[in-house]
Amino acid sequence: MDLVGSSLDLLARLDDSAPDALGRDEAAALADELRPVVRGLSRAYYTDGDSLVGDTQYDRLFHALRAIEAAHPDLVTPDSPTHRVGGAPLDAFSKVEHPVALLSLGNAFDPGDLRAWVDRVIKGLDGVLAEGERPSFVAELKIDGLALALTYRDGVLERAATRGNGRVGEDVTANVRTVRAIPLRLGAGAPASVEVRGEAYMARSTFEALNERLVEAGEKPLANPRNGAVGSLRQLDPTVTASRGLAFYAYGIGPVEGDGVPGRQSAVLDWLETLGVPTGPQRRTFSDVDALVAFCEEWAHHRDTLDYEIDGVVVKVDRLDYQDVLGFRATEPRWAIAFKFPAREATTRLLDIEHNVGRTGVIKPLAILEPVEVGGVTVSKATLHNADYIHARDIRVGDDVVVKRAGDVIPAVVGPVAAEPSRDHAVYEPPTACPVCGQPVARPEGEVDIRHTEGGCPAQLKRAVEHFVARNAMDVDGIGSKGAALLVDVELITDLPDLYRLDRDDLLALEGFQDKKADKLLDGLEASKARPLSRLLFGLGIRHVGETVARDLVAHHESLEALAAASGEDLEAIDGIGPIVAESVVEWFADETNQETVARLKALGVNTLRLPGERVATAIDESAPLLGKTVVLTGTLPTLTRPQAKALVEAAGGKVTGSVSKKTDLLVFGEAAGSKLAKAEELGIARVDEDGLRAILDGAPIPGDEPAESPDDLAEAAPAGAPEPSTADGFDPTGLHGEGEAGQGDLFGS
Ligand code: NAD
Repeated sequence: MDLVGSSLDLLARLDDSAPDALGRDEAAALADELRPVVRGLSRAYYTDGDSLVGDTQYDRLFHALRAIEAAHPDLVTPDSPTHRVGGAPLDAFSKVEHPVALLSLGNAFDPGDLRAWVDRVIKGLDGVLAEGERPSFVAELKIDGLALALTYRDGVLERAATRGNGRVGEDVTANVRTVRAIPLRLGAGAPASVEVRGEAYMARSTFEALNERLVEAGEKPLANPRNGAVGSLRQLDPTVTASRGLAFYAYGIGPVEGDGVPGRQSAVLDWLETLGVPTGPQRRTFSDVDALVAFCEEWAHHRDTLDYEIDGVVVKVDRLDYQDVLGFRATEPRWAIAFKFPAREATTRLLDIEHNVGRTGVIKPLAILEPVEVGGVTVSKATLHNADYIHARDIRVGDDVVVKRAGDVIPAVVGPVAAEPSRDHAVYEPPTACPVCGQPVARPEGEVDIRHTEGGCPAQLKRAVEHFVARNAMDVDGIGSKGAALLVDVELITDLPDLYRLDRDDLLALEGFQDKKADKLLDGLEASKARPLSRLLFGLGIRHVGETVARDLVAHHESLEALAAASGEDLEAIDGIGPIVAESVVEWFADETNQETVARLKALGVNTLRLPGERVATAIDESAPLLGKTVVLTGTLPTLTRPQAKALVEAAGGKVTGSVSKKTDLLVFGEAAGSKLAKAEELGIARVDEDGLRAILDGAPIPGDEPAESPDDLAEAAPAGAPEPSTADGFDPTGLHGEGEAGQGDLFGS
């Protein structure tokens, strides 16, 4: 069995046994199986930057081995991977012996582990701490990249080395010199010699852009930013490293010659900053353990707000003299620990690829997986996006694949774990016919998706009905996705207008429909006939016509007939309507079946006129607080749902769009805001949380729009577009408002 197969097999067996409770013989046998697997996984991880299994899965194997060795110390072998750090240096680079080893970190997987570690630290400082003294701790984000040791002599970068196996690393000086974030020369006050330790990493946005470039060039995209950082630094050609846009944060120092080194970890980081070395901006110092635990847990929820991947929080004893007292155990310091977040990637088997038909006739490939836990949720289906995505990554049924879940995003297959071109699994072939109705499907030129070329697919109709009756469309009471599927399956409806021809007897003949249920649906349908035109338009499911576009179109057209008669040019003249939307609308109304649908809906009594309450283009309220402003919503807001927030913005004259660009005026962010927040930061766009939005609706200016009173005011003001220091859920990501010394005061690292 290959390494991944053995890992998955061992993981399944660990599910039903506590390794430390096994008898000696069984334990010995299990340890013999675990050792080569853990060794192989860590070799791939450190030497090639490849995660063959998810970190949580690796950690489970590693800790099982460690638990056996703790319960049966005689089973420890000298070469056990539990007694090693990292991986062997690559032969391609010359080797560097670290004067002081670069170690690993112990792990805390939950607050209980972290508190137990704090207790051990306090115990270890017995007799050193003054009466009533509590040690303080620095919490730093654990960026997921690779460790570097940078030696500066007389302030000049002399050598850069990877961690390697902790004692011997690789000399990557030539490559590191091309990383702009790493200073070649330190600022004034640099000691005679200092080793700066830190993490080289690839920002998420850089990684995404790099992958786009790779795919365009027909090359295989990288699996994750860590893999990107490792691969970029271990290039034989430094110009490749230079083109990869790596970043770097220092988190400490190794050996130093000379004076001026502060006596606390927090002060060391400040000192490095003064020397021109970037350090992680979100660090904080704590003496209260509850606050420390809260900080770690908060970041587990807010990790997506950063433009780089973090996999935990590293907690360190602040005073360096206390660190010396505590010392080290085998491969880790006793004075530091990594609070690890649940990993969002896991490895599992791709059992099949099925296809989903969407309401506009798009056919999307869907991965059917051997169920696996990812970030606390069992995942058995994941998106595969489209055929290009599958082919670029060479994903095949039968492969062991990496599945990723980030924030509330739908799980996606990232790629096969180890694509061996020789494997005998078949290459994915996109369907040429609809898997549900058998009608031909095709990929229109210039598009990534495969779609139905004709209507009439029952699966598509089910999705279309679901969409039509949805709350934000025609809001029909008494029917949901199950009801829609049933009506299509029994062929009571073959298109949308058929809904309005349903009668009581038809419904009562259906399984599960009694008088009450039938009446509810009929009443719901009757009531829906009077819905505003913009809802009908949205409900028809025209490609690219979302709720906002529907309202914009209706604001300029008083009836569905008037809209049907509009030309592409007429439509493009409307603010916010571009050529793609215009073309899609014109095409839809030009189709005979659609014309018939419109005529039949009207004949069946459905409103096709703009109602008095609907927005009319000419009525502009000049005093509306968001008049003419483009707003993007991201993340989960504490009290408002997405539709509610949107309605508020629109009622205030603003327009809500889906993606952040230079044209965006305001970003409203909530919990688990992801790359949009990072992008808005990058572009310097004003950002507020829900409270900030409410303040604007009440008349407060958009941050950055305020007229500055005097130069002094400008100096005092927060950077334009900075979020409120405290978000609505009480989380203070800036670290400026808690106890102890603040970090850099850098808002979300912007
Ligand atoms: P670690 O978790 O033991 O932590 C040490 C490393 O953290 C340092 O070398 C440094 O690179 C990094 N770091 C980031 N920010 C830091 C900060 N502020 N202060 C100090 N260090 C900081 O890392 P490790 O020893 O490289 O690896 C152990 C972990 O790697 C495992 O727990 C596992 O999750 C993962 N791993 C995964 C696989 C796999 O197959 N998926 C294989 C091997 C290891």
